[in-house]
Amino acid sequence: MEGDGFAMDHNDIEKSIIKFWEENKIFEKSVEQRPYDKQYVFYDGPPFATGLPHYGHILGLTSKDLFPRYWTMKGYRCERRWGWDCHGLPIENIAEKELGIKEKKEIESMGIAKFNEFCRSKVLYFASEWKKTVIRMGKWIEFDNAYKTMDNTYMETIWYIFKELYNRKFIYEGKKILMYCPRCETPLSNAEIAMDNSYKDVTEKTITVKFKLKDEENTYVLAWTTTPWTLIGNVALAINPEIPYVKIEVRGEKLILAKARFEAMDINATVLEEFPGSKLLGKEYEPLYPVKSNKKGFYLIDGGNEVTTEEGTGVVHMALYGDFDYRMIVKYNLPIVQHIDDSGRLRDGPEQWKGMWFKHLDKHVIEDLENRGLLYEVIDYTHSYPFCYRCGTPLFYNAVDSWFIDIQKIKKRLLEKNSEINWHPENIKEGRFKDILETAPDWSISRNRFWATAIPVWKCTQEGCDGIEVIGSIKELQEKAIGKVPDDVDLHKHVVDDIQLKCPKCGGVMKRIPEVIDCWLESGSMPYAAKHWPFENKEWFNNNYPCDFVSEYVGQVRAWFYYMHVMGVLLFDHPPFKHVVVSGNMLASDGTKMSKSKGNFPDPMIIFDKYGADSLRFYLMSSNLMKAQDINFNEEHLKELYRKVFMLLSNVHQFYMLYGEGNAVFDDTSSKNLLDRWMIGRTNETLKRITEYLDDYNTPDACSEMVNFIDDLSTWYIRRSRARFKSDDPKEREEAVRTLAYVLNTTARMLAPISPFMPEYIYQSFRKYNKELAESVHLDSWPTYSDKFIDTELNKNMALTREIVSTALEEREKKGVAVRQVLNTLAVKGVSLPPEYLEIIKEEVNVKNVMLSDPSAKELSVELDTTITPELRLEGLARDMIRKVNSYRKESKLTIKDRITLFVETDSGLLRECISKYGKDIMRDIQADEIKMERGDGPAKELEVGGETAWISIKVHK
Ligand SMILES: [Zn+2]
Ligand SMILES: [Zn+2]
Repeated sequence: MEGDGFAMDHNDIEKSIIKFWEENKIFEKSVEQRPYDKQYVFYDGPPFATGLPHYGHILGLTSKDLFPRYWTMKGYRCERRWGWDCHGLPIENIAEKELGIKEKKEIESMGIAKFNEFCRSKVLYFASEWKKTVIRMGKWIEFDNAYKTMDNTYMETIWYIFKELYNRKFIYEGKKILMYCPRCETPLSNAEIAMDNSYKDVTEKTITVKFKLKDEENTYVLAWTTTPWTLIGNVALAINPEIPYVKIEVRGEKLILAKARFEAMDINATVLEEFPGSKLLGKEYEPLYPVKSNKKGFYLIDGGNEVTTEEGTGVVHMALYGDFDYRMIVKYNLPIVQHIDDSGRLRDGPEQWKGMWFKHLDKHVIEDLENRGLLYEVIDYTHSYPFCYRCGTPLFYNAVDSWFIDIQKIKKRLLEKNSEINWHPENIKEGRFKDILETAPDWSISRNRFWATAIPVWKCTQEGCDGIEVIGSIKELQEKAIGKVPDDVDLHKHVVDDIQLKCPKCGGVMKRIPEVIDCWLESGSMPYAAKHWPFENKEWFNNNYPCDFVSEYVGQVRAWFYYMHVMGVLLFDHPPFKHVVVSGNMLASDGTKMSKSKGNFPDPMIIFDKYGADSLRFYLMSSNLMKAQDINFNEEHLKELYRKVFMLLSNVHQFYMLYGEGNAVFDDTSSKNLLDRWMIGRTNETLKRITEYLDDYNTPDACSEMVNFIDDLSTWYIRRSRARFKSDDPKEREEAVRTLAYVLNTTARMLAPISPFMPEYIYQSFRKYNKELAESVHLDSWPTYSDKFIDTELNKNMALTREIVSTALEEREKKGVAVRQVLNTLAVKGVSLPPEYLEIIKEEVNVKNVMLSDPSAKELSVELDTTITPELRLEGLARDMIRKVNSYRKESKLTIKDRITLFVETDSGLLRECISKYGKDIMRDIQADEIKMERGDGPAKELEVGGETAWISIKVHK
C-alpha cells in the first residue's frame, strides 16, 4: 500500500485539518474549556523576528507545543501567547546595514530618534514568515496578540525591576574589564560571547619582548604576548615569587625567564644564575613606550599563582586590557592607561600611529621593537579568538564604566536554588549549570547603545551634587519630571533622554544617564514583564509562579535560563521554572553547522510538504536532540519514521474503515479473543509508559514506545486478525472491529500531542458515527490505562509465539517451500505454550499440526516436515487459487461487497480435484456464490496455479 492513500495526500489532509481547527476555534476552545484555577504555565522564550525560522526553532516550537497539548488533555488550562524579542544589537545591526552606517557616531549625527524609529519599523520584518511556519507545523499559540519587549508595558516592568533591585542594593555602578566590540562600541555579556560561534581559530604573530632592567647592565626580562598592540599601554611586569627563574646568556645578552620555560623552550644558552621569583620583585625596567601618568609604574610586581609556566616566559606584561591586569593595576596603584579609544583606535601613543585600528597596530609594534633591538622572538600562533556575534569585529577586553548586578552577593543562593529545578537531562544541574553559577561574574546590564529600554537613572547636573533618582514607573516619572509627561510616554532612549527631573538634593536639573539596558535583562524578566507585573495580573501571578516548564537549546543554559534564574532568585528567592528541557543542536547531514549560505540543509517548508508536519515533529521529538545532544539532520531517518509510524498507522486506519465503517463504539475492551486481549494489553502498556515518559518530559522514549506499538499493531495484530474482520460470524466480526476501534481511538489520543494531525484525521472519521465524542481529539482527555489489561503471561507467550513463527518461516525459506504450500507438521523444542497459541502458529506458518516437545531444552528449535503428500498438494493448490483470484478481483476493482460467480476452464485433473474437494472454502474466501467449471461470457484470464494452468472469468452479481 506504500505510495498510495496517505502518502499521496497527507499534505492536503494536514492543511484541511489546519482549516478545521481555525474555522471551529479548536485551540481557543482547548484553553477555554479547561478550568481557570488549574493552570499549566510555560514561558515561551521570545525569538527575534529579524531572521527566518530554522530547524533549531522548529525543534523548540514543537516541544513547546507538545507539552501544552499534553497537559491540556490532562485537564489543565494552558494559555499560550507569542512573544517577540525586539531590542539590542541584532536589530540595530540590521538597521545600520540598511542605513549604510559604519560608525556609532554616525547614528548620533543622524539623530537617535530617527535611528530608533527605523529599528522599530524593522523589528517584525519576518513575523509573517514565522506565522506561516507556526501554523504549518501545527503549533497552537495566540500569535497575533504577541507581547513585545519594546511594548511600553513590558519596559515599564523592566523599570520597576531595575528600581527594586537598585533599592535593595543589588545594582551598582563601576568599572570592569569586559569583552568589548569596538565597532558596536559596547561591552558584550559573557553569554553573548559564549553562545554559538563567537570564537574562531586565528593564526597571529605572537612576540617575546625584551624589557631592559634599569640597574643591571645588558640585562633583559623576557615577556610574551599574543596582543602586541597592548604593549603601547604596558605599565608593569608580573612574576610568580614562588617559582624559580634563571638568568641566561645568549649572544652576549643576559636574559631572565622562568626556569621551567627555559627548559621547555629548548634554548641553546649558558645558565648564569638560578633564583626564586621573589628576588625580582620591585626591580625597575625601561618603558617600551612612554605613558602620561603621575603614578609609579614599570617595575616587577607579585602576580601570585595566576602567573604560571604553562606558556610564555613566566613573566606577564601588564596593560589595562585584561581582567587579571586590571586587578593588579588597582592593587598596585599603577598608571591607568587606556590608549585605545571607544571605537578601537589608538588615542595615546606614538604620534605616527595615532588613529590607527588596534589590530593594525600589531605589525607596526613588531617592526618598531625589532628595529630597536627589543624583540627576542616572533612566532605564528594559532588560538581561538572572540569576535562580535553580530558584526564579526574582533573583540578585546576593555575597561568599561558599566552598571552591574552584584552576582557575588547572591551566588550562594543561586547555587542552593538550583536544587529546586528539574533539569532534563538531569546531569545539567550538577554539571553545566552549576559550573556557570560558580564562575559567574557580576552581570554588566548597561549597554552604550540606542534601541533598548532606557536605564531609568537620572543624575544631577550641578557641579559637586551627587543627586540620583531611579524611576520605577511611568507614574513616578510624571510626578518627578520637570514639565508634563504624557501617560503613553515611550520609554525608549530617544524620548526619555529629553525628560529632565528636579534634583531633590539641590533643586538643580537632573538628566538621564545615556545607557540602555542589556536585552538579556529584558528576556530574563519575561515572566514578569510579559504580564506587566506588578501593574497588572498581580493575582494571576501569585497563583501561577513559578511556571511548570521551559525549553530551549543548550546554548541558552548560560543565557536565558541563567538570566531567568538570576531574576527569579533576586525578586522572589525562587527559580522561575520547575522543569527545564534542554535540547541539542541540529547540525547539517555532514555534521557541520546548518548554514543558509552553504545551502547544506533542506528547506523546512519542503520537508513539511514531503513528509508532513506530523513526521517532522515526530522525528525531532524522537531524537536525542531532546536529551541535549547534537544530531546531524538525517532525511533517511525521517523518511523511515514517516513510513514506520504514519504510513503504517494510516494503513491500519484504512483497513478499519473498510470493515468497521458505521461502528460507533470506541471503548469496548471486553473481547475474549486471544489476539484482541493481547492488543488491548499492548495498548494499555504503551499508554502507561508514554504517560510516564511524558510526565518526565522524556519525548525520545515516548516516541520509541509508539514506534514499537504501531509495528505490533500493523504487522502482527492486523495481519493475524484479517480473517475475523471478514468473518461470516457477526459476533466475531464485531469483536474484532470494536477492539480495533478502541485501539485506534487510544492511539489517536496518545499520539495527538506529539503529532497532532493524523490523530485528528482518525478521530474525525470516528466522530461521523458517534457525536458524543469531543469535537476534536485535542479537546478530548488523555486516555487512562488500567493494569488489569496488562497480562505479562500473555505478553510473554505472544512474544514466544512470534519468535517461533519467525524461526519457522526462516526454515521454510531455507528449504525453498513457499508459505502458501500447507505442510503437515512443525515440531518445536524448548518451549511450552497453551494450545490457543498453537492455532496462531499453525495459521501463520501454514502447517496442519504443531507439536511441542522437550520444553526443558536449553534453546528454542524448530523442525519442519516438508514432505508434500497428494493431500497437501491439493490444499496448497486451493490456497494458491484463492490468492490468485483475489488479486484478479483487485485488478478488476471489485470491493469486498461485490459477490461473484467464478468460471474456471482447465485441463488439469489436479485442479478439478482441488475444486471439487475445497470448492466451499474457495468460494468463502473469494466472495463467490458459485464456481462453474466452464468458460464464462466475460473476458478470460490465464492463471498459473501451483504449476497448473486454468482460464478464469468473473461475473459480478448486481
Ligand atoms: Zn559588534
Ligand atoms: Zn543636585
